[in-house]
Amino acid sequence: MLIERLWPANAWRNYHYLIACEETGEALAVDPLDWSLCLEVARTRGWTIRQILNTHEHGDHVGGNEALQTATGSRVLAHAGAAGRIPGMTQALRGGDVIRVGRSVELRCLDTPGHTRAHLCLLAEGNRSQDAPALICGDTLFGAGAGNCHNGGDPALLYDTFVQQLAQLPDSTRVYPGHDYLARNLAFTLDREPGNVVATQRHASLGEREGSTAPVFTLGDEKRHNVFFRLQEPEIIARLRERFPELPDDPDARSVFLRLRELRNQW
Ligand SMILES: [Zn+2]
Ligand SMILES: [Zn+2]
Repeated sequence: MLIERLWPANAWRNYHYLIACEETGEALAVDPLDWSLCLEVARTRGWTIRQILNTHEHGDHVGGNEALQTATGSRVLAHAGAAGRIPGMTQALRGGDVIRVGRSVELRCLDTPGHTRAHLCLLAEGNRSQDAPALICGDTLFGAGAGNCHNGGDPALLYDTFVQQLAQLPDSTRVYPGHDYLARNLAFTLDREPGNVVATQRHASLGEREGSTAPVFTLGDEKRHNVFFRLQEPEIIARLRERFPELPDDPDARSVFLRLRELRNQW
């Protein structure tokens, strides 16, 4: 399986992805807002885009569908619950469905509500023995952060998605989010957990780095530098209790997650 991360350098800091079969060159484009960039990269690599997948219905993810569909004749796949809000949609997906790309790639759909109520992540579970698992996670999980829930989402559902699904995947899983917010998210981690040495080092090493050169992290990395996976850390809880004195000394993980999400909204 080949994964190419595309950086259109737009105001929303989107990433797009092309996932291709190395045997046939067939490719699937994920959230291809900058559809001409997707076409250009596919041409350069010798790939043919046959499918478009949207992780969710927001305009910065679906806005390129129609033009790319016209240019390639691709099918458009998205969450069944987003039907009616996905331009050109031809196939409704549900959690557990498997998408095939060419002969060698299989992607399993995870039903991951929270950022919106109809959000999908894609999991490639190591299509070849040498491939690490890969997670295409849209606006659910970002480098050192979690999606907001302002536009049709629900933070309690996002918590369930993090704990019941994402945290259960192997630590070796490579994470491919829908945006680059790494610098700001790491700064939030340090605001909430100043003693986090890994986050301190990563933040210091970012420099002027743009999204095009940001590292691809694993889920193991996220568990070290992303506060939304660190709900039992004493320092995070102690600092949260300064802001929310009604929290007990041993708060449940859901309460910690919801308070962190609330603080990040205003941060
Ligand atoms: Zn979104
Ligand atoms: Zn987005």
